[in-house]
Amino acid sequence: MTRGQISAREICQATFDYIEQTDSKFHAFLSLNRERAEQQAERIDKTSLAERPPLAGIPVALKDNMVLAGRPTTCGSKILENYVAHYDATVTERLEAAGALLIGKTNLDEFAMGSSTENSAFFPTLNPHDTQRVPGGSSGGSAVAVASGMVVGALGSDTGGSIRQPAAMTGTVGLKPTYGRVSRFGLVAFASSLDQIGPFGRSVRDVAEILGAIAGHDPHDSTSAALPVPSYTKLLEDSVKGKKIGVPWDLFGEGLEPAVKTNVTRGIELLKSLGCLIEDVKLPHSQYAIDVYYIIAPAEASANLARFDGVRYGFRKAQAASLTEMYTQTRETGFGPEVKRRIMLGTYALSSGYYDAYYAKAQKVRSLIIEDFKKAFERLDVIICPTSPTVAFKLGEKTDNPLAMYLSDVFTITANLAGIPGISLPCGQDARHLPVGLQMLAKPFDEATLLQLSYAFEKAGGFHLG
Ligand code: GLN
Repeated sequence: MTRGQISAREICQATFDYIEQTDSKFHAFLSLNRERAEQQAERIDKTSLAERPPLAGIPVALKDNMVLAGRPTTCGSKILENYVAHYDATVTERLEAAGALLIGKTNLDEFAMGSSTENSAFFPTLNPHDTQRVPGGSSGGSAVAVASGMVVGALGSDTGGSIRQPAAMTGTVGLKPTYGRVSRFGLVAFASSLDQIGPFGRSVRDVAEILGAIAGHDPHDSTSAALPVPSYTKLLEDSVKGKKIGVPWDLFGEGLEPAVKTNVTRGIELLKSLGCLIEDVKLPHSQYAIDVYYIIAPAEASANLARFDGVRYGFRKAQAASLTEMYTQTRETGFGPEVKRRIMLGTYALSSGYYDAYYAKAQKVRSLIIEDFKKAFERLDVIICPTSPTVAFKLGEKTDNPLAMYLSDVFTITANLAGIPGISLPCGQDARHLPVGLQMLAKPFDEATLLQLSYAFEKAGGFHLG
């Protein structure tokens, strides 16, 4: 593309043709964005080769909880089914400035609450490795759009694992940046102290390229960090010899599928053979991560979702007898069961009389989890563990058991609670050829080390989709 052998218009056309042939099998997309993508392609084709930005003509998809002016943003919910956004999220502006074609919006668990994309109010997304199975979630549509080759890259959001876990289950690379590395302006909030936007790609280089385009301070998001953004793609080739890797072996216990354990352990051996130093690390408070997360995330969600009441956004249940009835009926009809469960959990945890026992206590334990990582990263460069305890599970397998679904995130949630970056990399397959993901975590704002080690790992192992 940057050599001018193919035009952005041709790429754009081929992408939509391919989606048309392919997406009926997987249901990754909720809406397509043809007009805007074509206009962008035209703009790119008019710029000289030398002036083309790094993602010129590259097809990218967006999880449908990021806004794009004039386009629907459903969050996978009936309550926003007919909502059309009036402005662009910062990440979408930055992707377009980098030359990307924003192809469409992808399916997700309603308001990003879930681990399988089955909580979408519209339809589940299917895993291209086995269409009887889920792609993980909540950014399942983005993961599948990339894994099936419909787009080169995609953005997801990760509050407790929603980029990394679907990346693991679809054999893609998925990165959750440090809290504050990427602007959340224009991301519909789920749990504001945990949410981060990040990229999916088929390779580490693609992910590094997309992260470089979207990262950096944004005056519209006061939690975005005013720190320089390194040239991630230039640092990829740096040597990883002597890097110190900690493995929390204590956590490789109950609930971990043997094939996941074997593949991740082999991955660790591979890094050792590249000259990395492997040692044991203790993260004693990680065992409480799920409990803490399922207080804090629903508490924040209950506040964030209060705005969907039929007055300003999206769906309103008509013919209510009073204002209160309109609110209740709108929310009763508009929200699905998981979202209602979270709102109730969160409202309860924040209510007077229970606040100290639940919310305040969860915040204290969150501080202990942060301390564990701080201590560990005084001597370590990265920490490695599985991304998900299991490979992709069957559709319907966990829908009746929310607790079993919540356990899908047992390895990913700590990074959100601690605000640190994490990446999931394909590291092999189980006997049914289902992909297994290895997760690396690093200190705040050290995505460069994560990407370097990931790149070395990918080159040596060749597990990625290529
Ligand atoms: N699966 C977790 C949840 O249901 C995480 C979701 C996410 O990261 N958005 O809350």
